[in-house]
Amino acid sequence: MKKHPDEHIMQSLIELQRTEHSIIAAVIDPDHNIVAIGKTRVLEDHDPTAHAEVIAIRKACQLLKKHTLPKGYWIYSTFEPCPLCSAAIIWSELDGVVYSNNPTYRGNEQNWSFISCAEVLQSGAYIHEVVLEKDFLIDEIKDYFI
Ligand SMILES: [Zn+2]
Repeated sequence: MKKHPDEHIMQSLIELQRTEHSIIAAVIDPDHNIVAIGKTRVLEDHDPTAHAEVIAIRKACQLLKKHTLPKGYWIYSTFEPCPLCSAAIIWSELDGVVYSNNPTYRGNEQNWSFISCAEVLQSGAYIHEVVLEKDFLIDEIKDYFI
């Protein structure tokens, strides 16, 4: 079994963020293949829940025709998942989450991650336990919002 966090996966998502100008998330299968990619579409879709992580999870579940993801699936995000996405990570029963950038590097913008991903995952651990890898390759992307 391959190990997380995977530098190759996060590098490719960071590159995609820079070309797509959006936070990027991807659901990863146990062999480290990208199953589904999401980019934030809140403004385009007039949908306050259209966050990259939610979209990636939705696509992966639809692809597999399951409401929870099989064992060994992880999600990668170029930004710390907000409370909405962190809850979706629990509901979809992902094994783990790897994120890169965090709200500390969001310049003057309000910190909308009012409850950290770590806090949500910890509070929800009795429902489903999720492994967390924070700030992975953050030096590659922390300049993005500044
Ligand atoms: Zn979110």
